[in-house]
Amino acid sequence: MSEISADDTAALNFALGATDLPPLAAAAGAPRLLLVDDEPRLLSSLCELLKDGAYQLVTAACGAAAIEELSKMQFDLVLLDLRLPDLSGHEIMDFIKTRGIDAKVIVLSGDSGIDAAIGALKRGAYDYLRKPYSREELLNTVDNALRQRRLESENRSIAWRLECSEKLYRYLVDSSPDIIYTIDQEGRFTFVNDRIEQLLGFGRDDLIGKHYSALIHDEDLERARYVFNERRVGERASRNVELRLKSANDKDQERTFENALMTISFNSMGMYSLGEEVSKREFFGTYGVARDITDRKRAEELISYQAYHDILTDLPNRILFMDRLGLAVIQAKRNESDLAIMFVDLDRFKLVNDTLGHVKGDELLQQLAGRLKECLRRGDTLARLGGDEFTAVLPELRDRQDAEIIADKFLESLRRPFTLDGDEVYVSASIGIAVYPADGESIDELLRHADMAMYHVKAQGKNGHAFYDCSMRDASHQKIVLEQSLRRALDQNELEIYYQPQVDARSGGVVGAEALMRWNHPDRGLLAAGDFLPFAEENGLMIPISDWMLATLCRDLAQCNAAGGDPIRLSLNISPHYLDRRDFFDKMRRVLQHYGISPSQIEAEITENICIRNPQHAIEQLNKLCQLGVSIAIDDFGTGYSSLSYLHRFPVHTIKIDQSFVKQIHSASGHFPVVLAIISIARGLGLKLIAEGVETATQALYLEQSGCTIMQGYFYHQPLPRHKFIELLREKQAISA
Ligand code: C2E
Ligand code: CA
Ligand code: CA
Repeated sequence: MSEISADDTAALNFALGATDLPPLAAAAGAPRLLLVDDEPRLLSSLCELLKDGAYQLVTAACGAAAIEELSKMQFDLVLLDLRLPDLSGHEIMDFIKTRGIDAKVIVLSGDSGIDAAIGALKRGAYDYLRKPYSREELLNTVDNALRQRRLESENRSIAWRLECSEKLYRYLVDSSPDIIYTIDQEGRFTFVNDRIEQLLGFGRDDLIGKHYSALIHDEDLERARYVFNERRVGERASRNVELRLKSANDKDQERTFENALMTISFNSMGMYSLGEEVSKREFFGTYGVARDITDRKRAEELISYQAYHDILTDLPNRILFMDRLGLAVIQAKRNESDLAIMFVDLDRFKLVNDTLGHVKGDELLQQLAGRLKECLRRGDTLARLGGDEFTAVLPELRDRQDAEIIADKFLESLRRPFTLDGDEVYVSASIGIAVYPADGESIDELLRHADMAMYHVKAQGKNGHAFYDCSMRDASHQKIVLEQSLRRALDQNELEIYYQPQVDARSGGVVGAEALMRWNHPDRGLLAAGDFLPFAEENGLMIPISDWMLATLCRDLAQCNAAGGDPIRLSLNISPHYLDRRDFFDKMRRVLQHYGISPSQIEAEITENICIRNPQHAIEQLNKLCQLGVSIAIDDFGTGYSSLSYLHRFPVHTIKIDQSFVKQIHSASGHFPVVLAIISIARGLGLKLIAEGVETATQALYLEQSGCTIMQGYFYHQPLPRHKFIELLREKQAISA
């Protein structure tokens, strides 16, 4: 906004009621008159003549005395004899003028010459009375002079008030956060406030007389017509019409429209001449208020973009994908054309994530999304459904071969390695394809069949593509069979816990063990946790399995205690879903009681990732665990998204250095900063440390030298069946005894 001058400030203050008296207000009370004459007789007769008039009278018998009085106080009227002994009346009038004294002058003179009269009137005298004058003449002239003076002063005051109020309105209009404008019938600006300059960079003088269309983004011109030629008033007038305006601030041609434009919300209405009958009022233009909503617009766009896109890869997400697929199916039906949908699932992506960490895993997904996208035609949609699962819709397929070509391109594009911060990584993918209408007519069916085809590729050794065919239904049948057999495994006691000892490298003593799930599969032999637990998570079997696990672990721990020796601590992995169950804490308490186990002998292993989505919730859960007396370990530390700030707030006792970091240690004299960092974090926070996946003497030595002494890994022990583990405990005890 433009600077406000001191005058304006005074005016605004008055208009706003902050000050009450305008500085020019006429002096209150009876008018004050100065009577100047050197003849005492005439002076006293003047006083006599005026005494009934309710005036304040002051007399001066010479020029010097008159000047002195004029300098001392304010007069409304001076009755001035022209001929004085020391100064002439003209000189006194000059004094009044140069001093800017605001008083009217009536000249009294015995001089009959016209010159003296003209000289007086030229100097601004109000009137001229020639001596001798009648009483009437004098009183009338004085009266008239004072009345005129009063009128003048009132006029000034009214003008000042008007000016103040005009300034106030202008100030209000110019300091409005909105653009305020009027335009004439031809669509030319007749008024704009200051705001337009700040927002769009156009000077208001440049705009006056310009057609509004000069400001409007071309695509919005049509809609702008109504806003800028609004004849309606009241409820029906334009409200909240959003238009994009061009900005003079943007001189840079390269910038996109989005940046160069502002979205402005317009409210406008017609202006009609006032006063006359409504039907006769004449339309003379449009008045409008426009608000800059660019920021809100951008925020809205961002939010809606994020609702439909995957933040990591910028690809459409599941919601947008389903939407596009729905449209594509409708279109294919109408055009009687084919369309393909593809399921692309990376092979062994979890391994990449586990060994290189999530940050690089994310980076891989981003690069990969870019490569896949390049293989597509315009009009195809590639989406990320989550994790390492991508889907594509290929509308307007000429024949199946089209889809095959794209699938081949996908696989080909993955043949080159990905470079992730120095590491070269190879990935492959399994692609399942279903074609409308041959492989299904509904979205659900198509998705299901593409998914089956993808699983088929996985089962056939991965890295390839396959079209759905009905024999695959058998494969999905196998999945159902696996689910049934896993359910049965629980009842038939096919599940078993293996214990992997945790060793104190300095003493060689076993200080604890991690419980790991195994499945003695009747046909496939011993299955490791990774072979069936992910499947159990998917099918809701994780809860009954975890129940079994918890009870069995406590039973085994009671046996270990019975074997004598120092009480050891057993740790168990807790799935986030299990922890989330409301009855988890009750179950835990009951089982501990039942087997008479002290909670301090149990450590719960939790991965960092439970903290990502809702840290507050995670803290509450962990606190509850703590209240049970159970201690808490963060599993796979360093691979997830944990932030150190959480570690402070979490009631954690132990962190487990992830295998992937241990694996990097290949020389005892080397320098492995991540390992060292984790060790120093643990030390700083006073946490217990366990290194996982220790496979070589070198690794053990390096870790021990760096300050991590508790180890778990094949170098010491494989996970052992319960009886072997108890045997080991007995042996150790025998040695130490
Ligand atoms: P984890 O918690 O990180 O468990 C350690 C895994 O590393 C185990 O695999 C273990 O056998 C393996 N391991 C131990 N020492 C070495 C070594 O020196 N070298 C190598 N390469 N591997 C080693 P496992 O038993 O297949 O378990 C895999 C994952 O499954 C576990 O990772 C854990 O997250 C989960 N899991 C295992 N049992 C349970 C369970 O009872 N409940 C839950 N919720 N998850 C479990
Ligand atoms: Ca673990
Ligand atoms: Ca682990």
